[in-house]
Amino acid sequence: MNLKELQTFCQDNGESAFRGSQLYEWMYRHGVDTIEEMSNLSQSFREKLSENCSIQTLHVDRTNPSQIDQSVKLLFRTLDQQFIETVSMVDGNRHTVCLSSQVGCALDCRFCATGEMGLTRNLTTGEIVDQLIYVRKHIAQPITNVVFMGMGEPFHNYENVLNAADIFHDPKGFNLASTRITISTVGLLPQIQQFIQENRRYKLAISLNAAFDKDRSKIMPVNKKWPIEDLIHAGREYSNQKKRQVMFEYVLLKGVNDSEEDALELAGLLKNVECKINVIPYNEMGGEFTRPDTQTIEKFVNVLHKHRRGYRVLVRWSKGQDIAAGCGQLAGQTA
Ligand code: SF4
Repeated sequence: MNLKELQTFCQDNGESAFRGSQLYEWMYRHGVDTIEEMSNLSQSFREKLSENCSIQTLHVDRTNPSQIDQSVKLLFRTLDQQFIETVSMVDGNRHTVCLSSQVGCALDCRFCATGEMGLTRNLTTGEIVDQLIYVRKHIAQPITNVVFMGMGEPFHNYENVLNAADIFHDPKGFNLASTRITISTVGLLPQIQQFIQENRRYKLAISLNAAFDKDRSKIMPVNKKWPIEDLIHAGREYSNQKKRQVMFEYVLLKGVNDSEEDALELAGLLKNVECKINVIPYNEMGGEFTRPDTQTIEKFVNVLHKHRRGYRVLVRWSKGQDIAAGCGQLAGQTA
């Protein structure tokens, strides 16, 4: 529940709206585990809440710390026995938490373990927020960034994801700046447009992963509905309206989208778009796709740099390669 919902809930139960604000802070700012800990609420109200409400929607099933870097993968079990994953990545002062938004996913991107699972259901706002509450409580490094890049397509679960993001952003919640919250989509055009029209200023990432429609359609069936040109247009609109760079993500797959021709086409497509290109060498999971060798990756990135006009290029080396940190791998294996 967001603040307004909690206030209404309290009023419906014979309490003042102020009690709703107190509940909000206990849950999101302090992250208490039990209602009993909410010491400024009356004993009778706490008893009533304990009998009728739940403030914990997830149980941690497994914690998988990497042996090669500081990332940790958490496997959570929901109350209806579904598995979802969250990844915490610490790099110097930066602590990024990658959240899931759905149990499974309907979009069937060919290189993705979550896609293989199909969609079971959307996560509730509570289940999304609880992932962050758990990480904040159990990993000492303060959280600096949140990315919706875990299991699921966040814009398929628009309301709950945006509700959770608002709680993360709220000074009375997690107090994270809007620039520290990134929502990544494979390109659901109507929802991107809705997001652009709204007041919220969270960062937008569009997962492009190919420079030619024929290639993108093979690895991402969603491309048949909303092709590359539409997405770049939407990205441009986002950066113009929000005065904020859109990010295009490009997972590099060996022999699929990693040629010089691909890089040149991509550079041409993104010419004069205020954006950042995040090149992500593929995190292998034993399926049909593999990661290109270092030389190919460098060549691809060099072409982008050479033809750069308007965009910035970053290479994001995957973290937690030893802990199945690619989205959906651990949940898929466990389920
Ligand atoms: S990459 Fe994202 S949108 Fe595509 S199948 Fe995986 S979770 Fe779904």
